[in-house]
Amino acid sequence: MTETTRVRNPRSGALDFSFVEPSSDTLAALAADLRIAQRAWSASHSQARVDHMLAWAAAIESDNGLLRALCIDTGRYAIAALEVRAVVSLIRRWAVSAPDVLQTTTVIGKASIPGIEFESVAQPLPLVGVISPWNFPLLLSMIDTIPALLAGCAVMIKPSEIAPRFAIEMNRLIAGFPALHAVLRFVQGSGPVGAEIVKLADAICFTGSVATGRKVAVAAAHRLIPVFLELGGKDPLVVLPGSDLQRASDIALRASVQATGQACQSIERVYVHESQMQEFVALLVEKAARVTLNMADMRQGDLGPIIFARQAEVIVEQLADAVALGAKVLTGGALHQTSTQGGLWLGPTVLVNVSHTMRIMREETFGPIIPVMPYRDIDEALRLANDSEYGLSAAVLGPDVASARAFAEGMEAGAISINDAALTSAVFEAEKQAFKASGLGSSRMGATGLTRFLRRKAYLIQRGAPLALIGDGEIS
Ligand code: NAD
Repeated sequence: MTETTRVRNPRSGALDFSFVEPSSDTLAALAADLRIAQRAWSASHSQARVDHMLAWAAAIESDNGLLRALCIDTGRYAIAALEVRAVVSLIRRWAVSAPDVLQTTTVIGKASIPGIEFESVAQPLPLVGVISPWNFPLLLSMIDTIPALLAGCAVMIKPSEIAPRFAIEMNRLIAGFPALHAVLRFVQGSGPVGAEIVKLADAICFTGSVATGRKVAVAAAHRLIPVFLELGGKDPLVVLPGSDLQRASDIALRASVQATGQACQSIERVYVHESQMQEFVALLVEKAARVTLNMADMRQGDLGPIIFARQAEVIVEQLADAVALGAKVLTGGALHQTSTQGGLWLGPTVLVNVSHTMRIMREETFGPIIPVMPYRDIDEALRLANDSEYGLSAAVLGPDVASARAFAEGMEAGAISINDAALTSAVFEAEKQAFKASGLGSSRMGATGLTRFLRRKAYLIQRGAPLALIGDGEIS
């Protein structure tokens, strides 16, 4: 029996899209086809793969259907357009660096045993499964896919069932390039389809929540396949004493509310020295109140809707918990809805009187919430920043780069923005890993983002006499 999944429109709240969940047999047949085609793809010259990808990038760049679908999936225009541009520029950047990275992967040498030579080569994992979330549907489905394809792998992508419309357009764009179409496909599906892909692929790139990431890691461990997990965060921003508060409040606002806070690298808690707390909060509230919603028109206003209705419930629950425990909402805090069934919007919400006993300071919120907490001294600031099960990224602002850099040494996170915040999504060159429960596996950024899709294989060549049998009783 085929099962149909209905999808909510984040602006209207209407269930205006649906897809049929693929069966296990359909997925297995697709995986088998992709595996067969992958042999020719990986045997082709890296420049040939680059050329296919560049032609595809040009088609993505000029395609209105893709942008239109992504706008409906996310309820926002400017960030959807940015996602398309980011993917195109990622393909172009990897097109330049991938051939160089691949060229250096073969190592030839002589073993310490006379007469034996070795050749250590890199071979792509045949089939990579990519499972992605709803917050940046296009970018996060492509960020690992691009280097995997250039490494010579085939890729099966399952985007989130919350924002799946763009995937139809991507398959249409892939179909225009037969060599790519043979090795790359989006499949629609909910969680069980993701679980099925974990059973079929040779490696999994998963971006999503910690809870699902754990399940994926367990399933991958069962099959003994590599898994790369990019999970949630509760990123802190520490404002060191003596910081420029105009700059600090601008940064805190942008990094907390950009994309309505629906970003893994969003700042979710801010710590300010007690001597600067009052002035910082006043500036933040004033600036937060000026941020506009895009309720009337997707192309106007700063913040789009909360894409996933369940996420709005999480935000409301966390706010209620914080208020019940003594937190004070200085601005924002109320959900806006276009109609009773409509989309859900929330403006920047500044909270004070918060503490680490509250869910809002410990659990991922994924909304435009800015809880601000004072600290007495540097030791306390560092302790509070690190008091989290997450370690995705973090930020520190100081009166100068040197003092902020020194503080960053002690921060337990994989990427630390210094004198700015949430730079993680903008910088693709620097290798980094997620700390603590925020992820697992080698960096998706930098050269490792490609080499992690390669397995090493050694050819061990005997040019001299074969090795002699060593007798058990022999004394040398
Ligand atoms: P989610 O974990 O609910 O879903 C992610 C994907 O996993 C979806 O495609 C879903 O269908 C699939 N899935 C569900 N159950 C599965 C299973 N048992 N096996 C395999 N796949 C399964 O996450 P979400 O709500 O879509 O995304 C939000 C989360 O993603 C947040 O926690 C956010 O921080 C995180 N995120 C992390 C990064 C990063 O780079 N670290 C980037 C963006 C988002």
